[in-house]
Amino acid sequence: MDHFALKDGVMHAEDVPLPRIADEVGTPVYVYSRATLERHARVFAEGLAAVPDKLIAFAVKANPNLAVLKVLQRQGYGADCVSVGEMRRALAAGIAPEKIVFSGVGKTASELVAALEAGIGQFNIESEEEGVELAEIAAEMGLTAQCALRINPDVDAGTHDKISTGKADNKFGVPIDQAGQIFGKLAAAPSVNLRGVAVHIGSQLAELAPLEAAFLKLGELVKSLRGAGHTITHVDLGGGVGVPYRKGEITPAPADYGAMVARVTKDWGVSLIFEPGRVIAGNAGVLLTRVVRVKRGLNNPFVIVDAAMNDLARPALYGAYHHFEAVQPSGESMTANIVGPICETGDTFAMGRECDALSGGDLAVFRTAGAYGATMASSYNSRGFVAEVLVDGDRFAVVADRIDAGSIMDAERVPDWLA
Ligand SMILES: *Cc1c(COP(=O)(O)O)cnc(C)c1O
Repeated sequence: MDHFALKDGVMHAEDVPLPRIADEVGTPVYVYSRATLERHARVFAEGLAAVPDKLIAFAVKANPNLAVLKVLQRQGYGADCVSVGEMRRALAAGIAPEKIVFSGVGKTASELVAALEAGIGQFNIESEEEGVELAEIAAEMGLTAQCALRINPDVDAGTHDKISTGKADNKFGVPIDQAGQIFGKLAAAPSVNLRGVAVHIGSQLAELAPLEAAFLKLGELVKSLRGAGHTITHVDLGGGVGVPYRKGEITPAPADYGAMVARVTKDWGVSLIFEPGRVIAGNAGVLLTRVVRVKRGLNNPFVIVDAAMNDLARPALYGAYHHFEAVQPSGESMTANIVGPICETGDTFAMGRECDALSGGDLAVFRTAGAYGATMASSYNSRGFVAEVLVDGDRFAVVADRIDAGSIMDAERVPDWLA
């Protein structure tokens, strides 16, 4: 459930009519709803009520906006970070270092140093090589790094190839049959406390079955590691729960996910970590855009909007579907190709889409844009970076300024020898 709905024929975010935001901030602009973020955070946590000892660490990469992180920090959430940039954001939002997990296959030495200095809660190491390097760095600093080993459980998440992370040939984690040996090696290093295991098999999962399969494998691994004398106190179950992008699309309910987790893990005797991203933020945001003009096409008209693939990359990147609707629907509909202004055919949001009738100057939204939206923006075609707004009841604030093409150009130089 979200808080974007028509009131008196005009789409609102909570109690704010979207045309007001368009007038004051301009378009395109991402609009997030605080009430929706809080609701999703609460429902996800309530789904896990039967899990006694847990940390829910929001996957910052899904939406790293500081104000969004602050909303989640106030809900007691931690942060799953995949770069030092994300870690700095989590800390700036007031998330305690011990609630920060550092994931990612390519953490650099300087990132490991920075995260050790910050005193983060857990490093999810993705290779023996990384573990050895972290051990050396932590030893030099006189610190002990709390670690889990990310396992590649070799399950097919049944999701898009580009967001699948748990198959044997993906770059993430280590094969499950090598875990014992890596634990054995790293057990000898006093500067790392390898205390657990982690998985994350992919994103936008429509079914619980692949998650359950991965968790069952992890449970077996925990038993065998303990059998070999290792102390396992933490297991990180990652993220991946899907959200509905289409009207009527069925995705796992947090309560069902929580019940499955509670059942599978009940005898593990560990502290569990969760890393939800999309399920918290996806439907808490829309991308508000204005129609530039409608152009005749060979078959369908082209609705050319002022948002483009640089603002919302998912359709171009994964062929992703985003529901598209008018802010002030007339009740008429049309079949259209919905495109942005960028000089790439890939800058197409939908072909032959049945949608609300629109003409030049009208406002519209792409729904389910709160996760993997603004965070993937670029300035391609010198369009600048899109602005972001957070709504709270009948008020709103700009939580990320639009960075125009001029400011980006200001960071560039023509060297003397070319002038
Ligand atoms: C991306 C990612 C997540 C979040 O995935 P969602 O599908 O958004 O829940 C969690 N953990 C790791 C390690 C990730 O890379």
